[in-house]
Amino acid sequence: MIGKNKLIPHLKQTQLDSFLSKVDRSGGIDSCWNWTGSRKAIDSYGKFPLGKKFYIASRLAYYICYKKDPADWLVCHKCDNPLCVNPNHLFLGTHSDNMHDMKMKGRAPRQPRKTHCIRGHALTPENTRVQGNKHSCKKCHYIRSKARLSASN
Ligand SMILES: [Zn+2]
Ligand SMILES: [Zn+2]
Repeated sequence: MIGKNKLIPHLKQTQLDSFLSKVDRSGGIDSCWNWTGSRKAIDSYGKFPLGKKFYIASRLAYYICYKKDPADWLVCHKCDNPLCVNPNHLFLGTHSDNMHDMKMKGRAPRQPRKTHCIRGHALTPENTRVQGNKHSCKKCHYIRSKARLSASN
């Protein structure tokens, strides 16, 4: 994981000013601060050049506000707006948090869930054991725990 994301260099005052000049803060402290500079793609996050490299605007905003490099963490948006760089709307997450977050918001396509377990029991809501994001068959679990019991007797 280490080194996957570019570490953010120290920003010079002129770079900081230039960064802030591209942030639309007209909506006030609680609203989304939209990035008005260049973007990675038309509907994607903002980017900002430092030296010869481009950095993701929301990561820079996080760094500038919290004085902490997000490093290997993802900077996620509470507001679901990729252009937003309001530090109050940003939080650090892992890739799976982000996927979970997207799923919660209905953005990511749901993974097609199996309809039957390996023993062929129908995976109805009543017959599905949910642990975290693992789904397993209750009947199979019962069979396994019975087998374990009789093995220990
Ligand atoms: Zn926002
Ligand atoms: Zn089963």
